[in-house]
Amino acid sequence: MPKTEAETHFDLFVIGAGSGGVRAARKASALGKKTAIAEQRFLGGTCVNVGCVPKKLFSYAAEFSKLFQDAKSFGWQVEARFDWNILRDNKTKEIERLNNIYQQLLDSANVTLFSETAKLIGNNKIQLASGAIITADKILLATGGKALLPEIAGSQHCLLSDDLFYLPALPKKMLVIGGGYIGTEFASIFSLLGVQVTQILREEKSFLRGFDTEIIEHLRQILVSSDAQTAEMGKFQQIYAQIARIEKNNDTLNVTLKDGTIWQGDAVLSAVGRGANIIDLGLENVGITPNAKGFLSVDDTFQTSAPHIYAIGDMIGTTALTPIAIRQAMIFVQQQFTDAVPIQQAHLFPAIDEVKIPKAVFSLPPIGVVGLTQAQAAAQYATIRIYRSQFRAMKHSLTNRAEKILMKLIVNDQDDCIVGCHIVGSDAAEMIQLVAPLMGMRKTELDNVIPLHPTSAEELVTLHGTPEIISAS
Ligand code: FAD
Repeated sequence: MPKTEAETHFDLFVIGAGSGGVRAARKASALGKKTAIAEQRFLGGTCVNVGCVPKKLFSYAAEFSKLFQDAKSFGWQVEARFDWNILRDNKTKEIERLNNIYQQLLDSANVTLFSETAKLIGNNKIQLASGAIITADKILLATGGKALLPEIAGSQHCLLSDDLFYLPALPKKMLVIGGGYIGTEFASIFSLLGVQVTQILREEKSFLRGFDTEIIEHLRQILVSSDAQTAEMGKFQQIYAQIARIEKNNDTLNVTLKDGTIWQGDAVLSAVGRGANIIDLGLENVGITPNAKGFLSVDDTFQTSAPHIYAIGDMIGTTALTPIAIRQAMIFVQQQFTDAVPIQQAHLFPAIDEVKIPKAVFSLPPIGVVGLTQAQAAAQYATIRIYRSQFRAMKHSLTNRAEKILMKLIVNDQDDCIVGCHIVGSDAAEMIQLVAPLMGMRKTELDNVIPLHPTSAEELVTLHGTPEIISAS
């Protein structure tokens, strides 16, 4: 709680100590700016507490299901039994450790932390839940996103992704509503942990919309394949239907589809998308109105429609990924506080090129993508070349797993430049991070790279076969 007048004024006040907010606060403070941050829930925000980090830990847990099955072919006899409580509680301990690290990062950066909700009451004025009034030259909003519920009767019975990390017990049968990356990751993870999962989509093309269609079809086939179905653990199926209503009867959920079919199980996950987290932020007090999609609109300097008030991260509706929130934070601090570096020369952090953002879906197997999809490239360039490789990883030469890795490289025929790369298979996310800097490189240069044998990744530099040529008609 601030004690003196001097303590209640800051150069920068950040609302939200998630991926973007913490980075902006630490960087501004390092530049000598008097900085404070308010956090109402958990240090590190979504990514650390209920997003990337615990999700990836769950994904590792799910992977063991496949590993134990494959291990038999390598001579290992394993009696595996999964204990949800151990996974959940170990994950929580790790998150608490990370929360403490975030606390230390803020302390050592000299950032004043207010562990409470902050609300805008003026263009330079914030009120904390404790009642304290703070003033600041600049206010940065970084309050993130929140999961949405579908507009269906009974949707209050749905779990949200946050809830999955703290479930008192592992469900037996789960319905996942939504085909985006979050729904798909959890559907895949929970099925391998032993849950019978049904992913319900409005239509076939609602599955991982925006990703390359061939890539998602390959993933779909693996997820619903006999490989997955005969694994010791749960089952995964996808259905295309619309939900009429959700009802709860003691511990049983009854989901009635519009065709009258009833799905029955013990958990329904809503993964229908995320909106800006702006409840009780006081936007009305400063004249900021969310845009049609419910996010805050900002200009090139991340300024909202209100003077002195800026916004970054998931709440502005740009690509909702941690590295994007962090990069926006760096650009914001650079633009606002590094007076010695004119914006034009601020080449360290150029504007974010959406196309070059590497993305992953941490399903099992994962997807890793960067650049244009085949459809986007075909629309943009007169002629494109598609190089493909589909193969069983060497590991599965000893197992019964039929699963194949698919790699796809998209090249602009005119200048031979690589404009997209898409991978489904083990380690796809790890591989795509290193492929990302190759966007714009010529295919012939890639062909000159010496392969590292025996790896799956070597396939990327040995795509010498005849490509598929696609020309605009
Ligand atoms: P957040 O990290 O959400 O932080 C916002 C903070 O603001 C929160 O801590 C919140 O409590 C606080 N806050 C809100 N309102 C107030 C207020 N009025 N006063 C004080 N504090 C307030 N991204 C990836 O890059 N890779 C992944 O694998 C990945 N997986 C994900 C999985 C899931 C299930 C989810 C939900 C997200 C995932 N993301 C992933 C996205 C990533 O978590 C977000 O893009 C990132 O956290 C956004 O950062 P942010 O700073 O905008 O907001």
